[in-house]
Amino acid sequence: MLEELQRLEPFRAEVRGWLAANLPSDWRRRMLGASEADHVAFQEWWFGKLMAAGYGAPHWPAEWGGSGFSFAQQIVLYEEIARAGAPRLIHYFVALHHVPGTLLHWGTQAQRERHLPAVLSGKEIWCQGFSEPNAGSDLASLRTRAVRDGDHYVVNGQKTWSSNAHHAQFSLLLARTDPAASKSRGISYFILDMKTPGITLRPIKQMTGASHFNEIFLDDVRIPAENLVGPEHEGWKVAQSTLSSERGLSILELAERMKQGFALLLADARVPGPDGVPYDDAETRRRLVDIHVRIEALRVLVNNQLGAVLRGEALGVAPSIVKLYYSDLLRDFTHLGVAIRGIEAQHLEDVLMGGPNETGYWMQDYLYSWAWTISGGSSEIQRNIIAERGLGLPREPAAA
Ligand SMILES: Cc1cc2nc3c(=O)[nH]c(=O)nc-3n(C[C@H](O)[C@H](O)[C@H](O)COP(=O)(O)OP(=O)(O)OC[C@H]3O[C@@H](n4cnc5c(N)ncnc54)[C@H](O)[C@@H]3O)c2cc1C
Repeated sequence: MLEELQRLEPFRAEVRGWLAANLPSDWRRRMLGASEADHVAFQEWWFGKLMAAGYGAPHWPAEWGGSGFSFAQQIVLYEEIARAGAPRLIHYFVALHHVPGTLLHWGTQAQRERHLPAVLSGKEIWCQGFSEPNAGSDLASLRTRAVRDGDHYVVNGQKTWSSNAHHAQFSLLLARTDPAASKSRGISYFILDMKTPGITLRPIKQMTGASHFNEIFLDDVRIPAENLVGPEHEGWKVAQSTLSSERGLSILELAERMKQGFALLLADARVPGPDGVPYDDAETRRRLVDIHVRIEALRVLVNNQLGAVLRGEALGVAPSIVKLYYSDLLRDFTHLGVAIRGIEAQHLEDVLMGGPNETGYWMQDYLYSWAWTISGGSSEIQRNIIAERGLGLPREPAAA
């Protein structure tokens, strides 16, 4: 892997130079406590800049307006973006990863032509309507129903935890079309226009005070049959493409950002507290070293996974190991930030919109770190995957 990356040193220098010239040095100040509207506008602006430079859609094929970069080039680009401390394009995550990952494999030509250029124009934000109140970890038990009615499907049900649905123009939607079929069969996959009558959004208030995700209520929502993605009743297979569309690069970016965040933690540890007592006591030093070592270990795990992708090897349970390791580390890292900041951390600061997961506003970071132990498959589910598929241990008995 190293050799391949070494050959890309000129490309790395080009990206680094571009970021130095184009990343606004005051973006953190502007986005600290920014309104949702200002944040959306800033994300659109930054995405537009990246697109104009050829860095906005590195993994998209050139024929659909992307850069068509090799995987190794993408690694370099993500590393440099993280090292520069650039904002994360969180509003575009579903649109940039899940939408092409799904439509390029399963979509019709008309669906691709309708949506892929619109995503790259920055005007289409997408959300994901998969989880339901009783179907999260066990997604295949979802109960939202879609019934064919002429050239439409009529959808009734409820989705939940849908990130950014309040900004989204479209949603990826799973609904049951054959209730007689066994759990993962009989599910279909749709493109849902969020302006369709019958959709009600209710924001979910998080413990940080923000509302980044929503419940979606669907009452007699009519979806044109041409918005079906893949064959009817085979939405589960389509959803696997959605969920595997991102091959570890965002975790690479997060690991790099964590390394940058560690500098903030160290800086805090060197500042005496309000009582004049410095925090670099033996216990704090022990915890700082522990976090530092674990960040280095995370980077090794991520590099191993990326190396396997480059060599075209099967990943097995590696993504579960990395996700679990990252989530635990992020929680302990941000908790140490809260401990070091002491009494000053005991109030909720503003949120750094579009910031990394370790912004230095430690209480916000710590509260949000728990989201990582749940989203994208909870830590318990990752442990089950590692135990059963990785170690060959027997399946856990189902709950009574
Ligand atoms: C920040 C964030 C963003 C999200 N964004 C979206 C989104 O945009 N779209 C979307 O559709 N969903 C989204 N989700 C939902 C997410 O996919 C679910 O929260 C997740 O799948 C867990 O499902 P659940 O919340 O229903 O919990 P449950 O599945 O009910 O789990 C509850 C608890 O039981 C444990 N548990 C469940 N099953 C087992 C088992 N077999 N063995 C051991 N323990 C088990 C879990 O680990 C958890 O601790 C988001 C979640 C978060 C936190």
